[in-house]
Amino acid sequence: MAPDRLQRVADQVYRLEDRFVNLYVLDLGKIVLVDTGTRKAEDNIRQGLRELGKEVEDIAVLLLTHHHVDHVGTAVVWKRESRAEVDLHRIDAPVAAKRERRRTHGVEARMKVVAAFMGLFTPFMRGPPLETDRLLDGGEVLDILGWPVEVIHAPGHTLGSCAFYAREAGILFAGDAVNGRRGTPEPPIVMEDVAASRDSFRKLTALNAPLLLPGHGSPVRRG
Ligand SMILES: [Zn+2]
Ligand SMILES: [Zn+2]
Repeated sequence: MAPDRLQRVADQVYRLEDRFVNLYVLDLGKIVLVDTGTRKAEDNIRQGLRELGKEVEDIAVLLLTHHHVDHVGTAVVWKRESRAEVDLHRIDAPVAAKRERRRTHGVEARMKVVAAFMGLFTPFMRGPPLETDRLLDGGEVLDILGWPVEVIHAPGHTLGSCAFYAREAGILFAGDAVNGRRGTPEPPIVMEDVAASRDSFRKLTALNAPLLLPGHGSPVRRG
């Protein structure tokens, strides 16, 4: 029997590891995905949905933290198959749609190897263009299937990076603005804006969320 794809991290919230990156599955009756993994994550997500007794058609919303290919990789599939709504910050949306490209700074030579491994320098045209349905600004509170979710613009790793804070549930989805290393928050290693990334890291960790769920690494729990 195949091992469980989903790891429960909180009530109604599951972590799915797609090789080196996390995505999160929220079972709120219908399904919300916070990020969508690499393009190879498709089968794992289908299996994860089966574990919850859900269908692909149940995927209602895709909350995307930023434009990188290891986070938006399967979004076009769910948008096509279940008409899931794609939410992404307006600054990153043109990159996901392949209308704009971005340069990454702040990577030391030795880290370039790591970054290449992580798929951050994959060719620009790799993967189909993804159109965003709801352009985010930061500062708004979304009603995600009854869950109030605050959008926090956390630029730096990418200029349009966002964190999603379900304050009532005590859960902060940090994307790549904060990494989780053995339960400790760490700043990202690749950045489009180094100074902004530092500020965003401070801002998000200062929230002291009971549970911080990073794009890479393990969950960070407080208290
Ligand atoms: Zn990233
Ligand atoms: Zn990433």
